[in-house]
Amino acid sequence: MPFDLIRGQEHAVGVLKRSLEANRVAHAYLFQGISGCGKMMAALSLVEALFCGVNPPCGSCPACRKLATRQHPDLHLLEPEKGIIKIDRIRELQKELSLRPVEAPKKVCIVSQADQMNQAAANAFLKTLEEPPGNALLILLSDTPTALLPTILSRCQRLRFNPLPLEIVVELLLAQGIPTEQARSAAALAGGSMAKGIAILQEGFLARRKEIVEQTIGLTPRDFALLTTTAERLGHEREQAQEVVEVLTLFYRDVMLCRHGSTPAVNADLMVIVARTAGLLSTRGIMERLEAVIGAGQSLLRNINPRLTLEALFMALAAGK
Ligand SMILES: [Zn+2]
Repeated sequence: MPFDLIRGQEHAVGVLKRSLEANRVAHAYLFQGISGCGKMMAALSLVEALFCGVNPPCGSCPACRKLATRQHPDLHLLEPEKGIIKIDRIRELQKELSLRPVEAPKKVCIVSQADQMNQAAANAFLKTLEEPPGNALLILLSDTPTALLPTILSRCQRLRFNPLPLEIVVELLLAQGIPTEQARSAAALAGGSMAKGIAILQEGFLARRKEIVEQTIGLTPRDFALLTTTAERLGHEREQAQEVVEVLTLFYRDVMLCRHGSTPAVNADLMVIVARTAGLLSTRGIMERLEAVIGAGQSLLRNINPRLTLEALFMALAAGK
């Protein structure tokens, strides 16, 4: 993949392109930034430019074709297994890197979530960084670089990757064929991570959110029985109750925005419900509901029973003016 297809990371990509042009690629990099913002894509683009020999890479030579399926004999990908990178994997890597490259000018290792190396693995990896075998290139990716040994950090050239701007996440989701309103809502919740945007859509979060909103906003004090059964169902598990609270916080924030003439920031797909609710409630009523939802979130954090928390929340929502 050519560098130019990487969106929203002009600074990091610019540094990499310039070092390629000047033939001054470092022997170790740390790409730091939230997951799903393009670190792996940038790492693979760098490898492609090095292995293909031309920049932008041709995309059709044997090296480019092998890299496209991540099957190149000189590319080693290391990632955590069950949340840990263990020393055995580092030893295997050291052995691999000590051999001559098979086809490419150098061997490359990309370590995903490098901060997941345990102590022993990190110490062993440090040796590889101190005395890189051959002219191998090491690229570490991390969303929490502070968890890496300072001695590892100091031996890498660090490149910062920013969370993707909202509009770019929207564009990338649209390019994958996601309908506009869903793309806007998922992007607003994704916090600059394309991976999170896709996960939100795949996990059916938007549909669940619609259900939560529909089942809770119309409740009145007369619906006591319905209110308790809804609380029982949605508050069955703490995690689920937390999701309800999160959904309702963002919903009432959007209702407030709408009430004051702005466009909803997150609930683009629920525009009709947001607008209707904004028309029915006073500013004070919306504030009271927001406070009730935020209070419920705090109760859950304090470990109060999720069913009881939601029951109290729904009563407050139903009773508000
Ligand atoms: Zn090529």
